[in-house]
Amino acid sequence: MVTVFYKDFNSIHPQPASETELGLIGDIVAKEKPFMVGFSVMSSMYLETVDKVIAAIRTRTNAFTICGGAYATMFPERFLDMGVNFVIRTDGEISLCRLADALTKDSDWHHIPSLCYKEDGKNIINEIGNILTEIDDYGLPAIDCENAYFIENDRVQAGDPQLGAMSYEVIVSRGCPFTCSYCCCVNLRRLFPQGTEYVRTRSAESVIDELMIAKKKFKKLVFIHFYDEIFPNSPGWIDKFAVEYQKHINLPFTIWSHPKVINGDELKKLVSVGLVEVIMGIQSGSERVRRDVFHRYETQEDIINATRVIRESGVYWATYDFMLQHPFETISDLTETYFLVKKLFPPFELQLHGLNFLPGTDIVGMAIDQGKLTARQMDAIMYAPMQEQFSAYWKQENELMSQLWYRMIYCLQFPGPRKEIEGYENDPVAHQKEINACYERCRKMFKHRYYRKKIHVILRRMGLTWRHFLWK
Ligand code: SF4
Repeated sequence: MVTVFYKDFNSIHPQPASETELGLIGDIVAKEKPFMVGFSVMSSMYLETVDKVIAAIRTRTNAFTICGGAYATMFPERFLDMGVNFVIRTDGEISLCRLADALTKDSDWHHIPSLCYKEDGKNIINEIGNILTEIDDYGLPAIDCENAYFIENDRVQAGDPQLGAMSYEVIVSRGCPFTCSYCCCVNLRRLFPQGTEYVRTRSAESVIDELMIAKKKFKKLVFIHFYDEIFPNSPGWIDKFAVEYQKHINLPFTIWSHPKVINGDELKKLVSVGLVEVIMGIQSGSERVRRDVFHRYETQEDIINATRVIRESGVYWATYDFMLQHPFETISDLTETYFLVKKLFPPFELQLHGLNFLPGTDIVGMAIDQGKLTARQMDAIMYAPMQEQFSAYWKQENELMSQLWYRMIYCLQFPGPRKEIEGYENDPVAHQKEINACYERCRKMFKHRYYRKKIHVILRRMGLTWRHFLWK
């Protein structure tokens, strides 16, 4: 098997595929002569590159082409209509192996569950199936792809680029119990056959086995990032995990969590074996926006309490995520966010960004039904070139009040500027010059703090703390 890592991950300024890079992937395909080429299509935000790569590959090979991943699961017809031979929806492990087996043996593959294909010009979408509840049985993910290429900056490099990384990303579970309207998790859940357990967690042993291999292979490894939507918190799981993690891995790590599931006792156990950062989505300080627009049902008290528990559990770093300045939000919602952020237990980092409308998510229909955007405008946003979508995600509104409240929220994450900003909250317009100056200072502080956090993680890996560098 050959794996091609096509371009590095960049969530701020991603670069679309260049003509040279498309030629390079075509060369690899021509050289390796694969029987089947699979494409991982997770997010619509990268479709521009996916489409170009598929087109480039199809000019160089007659191999079967097959797409999987969240976006392909929700929109299989799109790929079949553009000439891709197959799409596999949801968990692909078993169906993909069965398909490869059937194609090599020239036996019948038409009834393989989750498979989608075209027949006599018609799209055939098989029922979803071949889903395991015990996801350990899928085996471990490929940690060191032996026969790999990495294409970036108009160059191709042999080998798995991840092996030189300082951090390793691992996923412990599949699915999320929540129903946020801007996220595809709930839409994917609706596709599963009735009675399927949607949130499925690997055993602690399987996770540790994977991390032990990663620790051996990644020579510069200092940090583990658990990428689950919500880190598992089922009774007993964390106890088992903590013991084994400390014994075999013992590296600082970060997790994602949710205000509804934060638990102080479990967090303390994780902190004692290396947890340094919790990232938690709050998204809006307006209960109306959270409940009626985002379909998030935590109260203001749940959120404030979760931040208190994170602090009291001794987690070194807390990052809170907010989606601001979208068509559903009023100035009064933004003001409410400011006053909620004031009540969060410090210290914390804020990640402020916009709302991306992702195809197939519930919020898309809501925005059209409520007249926030027309269907045509929505399509133009959702299928805009990749760089345009990412710039919209990070951009700030220019409307004066919106900009001032956004900037004041941003400044609240820094203890010194926070006091200053609180002095302007009764009349932001009268203090716009001061607010803007304070915001610019805070942006610089954000960068310094980021490096401080990185140094902390490396020190921790070496068994040191800041105290080792202080004068006695
Ligand atoms: S909590 Fe996160 S992963 Fe779960 S539905 Fe909401 S946005 Fe999606």
